[in-house]
Amino acid sequence: MKALVIEDDPGIIEAVSLCFQLRWSDVKVSSASQGAKGLELIETEKPDIVILDIGLPDMDGFQVIREIRRFSQVPVIMLTVRDKDIEIAKGLELGADDYITKPFSHIELVARVQAVLRRARGVPVSEERPFVSGNLVIDFARNEVSVSGKSAKLTSTEYNLLYHLVKNEGRLLPHETLLTKVWGETYQDARDLLRVHIQHLRQKLGDSADSPKIIVTEHGIGYKFIRPA
Ligand code: CA
Repeated sequence: MKALVIEDDPGIIEAVSLCFQLRWSDVKVSSASQGAKGLELIETEKPDIVILDIGLPDMDGFQVIREIRRFSQVPVIMLTVRDKDIEIAKGLELGADDYITKPFSHIELVARVQAVLRRARGVPVSEERPFVSGNLVIDFARNEVSVSGKSAKLTSTEYNLLYHLVKNEGRLLPHETLLTKVWGETYQDARDLLRVHIQHLRQKLGDSADSPKIIVTEHGIGYKFIRPA
C-alpha cells in the first residue's frame, strides 16, 4: 500500500507519516512539497491514495486535482482548513473523493483513508452484458463507461454511483439509500456530497445540468436513472 502526501508543511507530512506508522504500518508514505512534483510522483510511483493539501507553493490544490483527473483515477483526499465549505465543494466538484479538515486526529485520518479505499476497491464487477442505450455504453465486466464512443473517465466513486442508479433503472432511489450504498452508513446524511457527485456524473454523461434527462432529480427525495434515448 502506497500513500502520497502532497503538502508543503513538514509538520503535516510528519503527522501523516507517524499516523500510518502507528496505526497502519503496511502503508508506505512518500511526499512532495510542490504540486508539480506530486503529479510526477503519481505517474511514476502509482500510489494507491493521494492526500492533497489545498495551499501549495507552486500551484493550488484545485489545479492539482484537475491535472490528476486528466490521467489518473487514483483516490484523492484533500486537506482543508475547518469550515471552508466552498473549498470543500470545489474540490469534490473537481474530482476529489473526500476531504479531511486540519487539524485531524490519527483515527480520523485512517478512517477516511480506509473508507475511500473501500469504495475504490468495492466497485462492483459483474459478468453481465454491457448496458447500451443511446450513446451510453456501460461495460460492467471492465467497469468502463463510454459516451459516444469516448471513455467518460469516471472516478471509482462516480462509477459506483452510476452502477447503483442503472441497476435500479426507472426507480427512485432516496438520498439515504444511495449514500449508504456508495459511501457507507456513516454518510447517509451527506446530501451535499451526493449532490456534487451527481453533478459531476451528469457532466461526464453529457446530461443537461438545467433539465437533466438521464439522472433525474426528485426534489427532497432522491434520484432516478432514465435510459437515454
Ligand atoms: Ca500547505
